[in-house]
Amino acid sequence: MKLIKLKTDLIKAIELDKRLGFVPTMGSLHEGHKALIKTSKRNCKKTLVSIFVNPTQFNNKKDFETYPKNLKKDLNYLKKLKVDYVYLPTIKQIYWKKKIKIKLNKSQNILCAKFRKGHFEGVLDVLDRFVELISPQKIFMGEKDFQQFFLVKNYIENKYNTKVYACKTIRAKNKLALSSRNSLLNKQSFIRSGIITKKLLILKNEINKNKKNYKKLIFNLKKELSKSFDIKIEYLECRNVKNLNTDILNKPFKLFVAYFINNVRLIDNF
Ligand code: AMP
Repeated sequence: MKLIKLKTDLIKAIELDKRLGFVPTMGSLHEGHKALIKTSKRNCKKTLVSIFVNPTQFNNKKDFETYPKNLKKDLNYLKKLKVDYVYLPTIKQIYWKKKIKIKLNKSQNILCAKFRKGHFEGVLDVLDRFVELISPQKIFMGEKDFQQFFLVKNYIENKYNTKVYACKTIRAKNKLALSSRNSLLNKQSFIRSGIITKKLLILKNEINKNKKNYKKLIFNLKKELSKSFDIKIEYLECRNVKNLNTDILNKPFKLFVAYFINNVRLIDNF
């Protein structure tokens, strides 16, 4: 495993790699990241993992500062997975030049984009910089952050000769989607989020059986969850998976949720 900190070293190291898979992460690695890395290793000749907590995608300074960090453990984890390259850039290495600001259009200002102003602009900006530098053949991202995957796929595949793929969400035994932020949950919140997740899975099934009534079904569960659990729901919505609009009646759709529990913001989709 080659550990790379400097851009110049990175360019040199991957110069001859034509079939490179790229897994961008913010560290505090878990089985969700492992699934992406394994998929990349199966589908590409070499795999590069980046660990970079990107400041521009945080709309809250405290959230950025308290984002879980675990570099030593992460590097051991990546070594065991036999990753070829690990890129650990500094903020300066990434934001060395100014670029035209990326802007989402009005129809994209939904779900997390609506509640985390500037978040996806930051995500797209940093991935644009990574792809310009690395030119990977393939990028692997998690379905857990479906809106992120959707926006990145559109943006990157339009601009570069790179394909973006989604991997299934990996969950804990209690069904809660694995996330680096789960380490910020106390035991009670972890258990509660598991129960909430199971209720959301049941809701998805009910909507599947009775699509026409989906708004009422969502309304009822939203009320129940807010009352029975100490959570603040940002959104609980159905969107079709093709263009993320609300027309779901004759289209495949997903149920999207974001909520705060114990001051930790969790997102998921089903
Ligand atoms: P992060 O380090 O949280 O920025 O995530 C890096 C990548 O891992 C993103 O593409 C995420 O969507 C993906 N990811 C995070 N959690 C999971 C999970 N539970 N299952 C699958 N992929 C995940």
